[in-house]
Amino acid sequence: MDPVRIAVVGMGKIARDQHLPAIAGDSGFSLAATVSPHDPGVAGVPHHKSLDALLAEGPPVDAVALCTPPQVRYELAAGALKRGVHVFLEKPPGATLAEVAALEARAERVGASLFAGWHSRFAAGVAPARAWLSDRTVKQVSIIWREDVRVWHPGQAWIWEPGGLGVFDPGINALSIATHILPRPFFLKAATLMLPANRAAPIAADLAFCDTAGAPIHMDLDWRQTGPQSWDIIVETDAGTLKLSRGGAVLTLPSGTTHSEDREYAGLYARFSTLIRTGRSDVDTDPLRLVADAFLRGKREQVEAFEE
Ligand code: NAP
Repeated sequence: MDPVRIAVVGMGKIARDQHLPAIAGDSGFSLAATVSPHDPGVAGVPHHKSLDALLAEGPPVDAVALCTPPQVRYELAAGALKRGVHVFLEKPPGATLAEVAALEARAERVGASLFAGWHSRFAAGVAPARAWLSDRTVKQVSIIWREDVRVWHPGQAWIWEPGGLGVFDPGINALSIATHILPRPFFLKAATLMLPANRAAPIAADLAFCDTAGAPIHMDLDWRQTGPQSWDIIVETDAGTLKLSRGGAVLTLPSGTTHSEDREYAGLYARFSTLIRTGRSDVDTDPLRLVADAFLRGKREQVEAFEE
């Protein structure tokens, strides 16, 4: 079967760090073009400043990977789907739940595949964690996602704007894992969002969820962490404690610890390829819904202004 001709749209950090290498390493795809308003693209690959220009002038593409900030993603996705082009949405899949639902309906109508990619679900420890937890009783869960925003998001103005999610940009990765591995659905009970005096998005958040059997799930998100960084999920069960650390890469069970190499984006592209070749979509909005609920129900506290 011919490789899927794909264009990468939004040539920022994640496109260059992960999408381009993953596409190069997957024989099911060929990089047909790049799109970015300011970035010059890649030597030898056709480049346009806008997706409209690519779709109007070519080269032809079968699929696009949208690696832009979430606030501009709906228009890009809708424009691609209108032409029957398959769409891979980076996380979070949109700036609102309703726009993602509209995209899903449009993809269905035109018979194109829409994939909401949650890269953390493809971290090495996540599938075995899900399997181990499937027949366990969860007593309580602690999610600690503490990182230094100056190290991981330098110069990303969009992340502090409405729709950029602030500390939920990494925090939604934790929720994408938790919604995937925990055996019961869970929902928000209370939240406090800490907003810097000069920013529209939170720099930290404290959230209390509980699952449908009443087990408490506590989440501590903070972007002011210097020194060691934490991306940990600890699940206490009737059969002992499970710990996922390093964002899902390292799994510790009562029987020992396992760690495998990072294959998150290879896994995402394998999944996208399967969806295209089988004519299906995969649009799970559960992590985004929990974040939306935090903005809906959370108490706001103003904290010290943040300067880069
Ligand atoms: P980034 O470095 O700021 O890159 C975003 C790029 O999008 C910019 O370089 C910009 O291109 C481009 N862009 C903006 N508007 C556009 C438009 N209308 N059409 C085409 N391109 C447009 O951001 P990022 O860190 O890569 O994050 C992008 C998305 O990936 C976010 O949703 C984020 O949550 C997700 N993500 C990021 C990471 C990470 O480690 N950074 C990891 C996983 C997922 P120009 O420079 O040409 O203006």
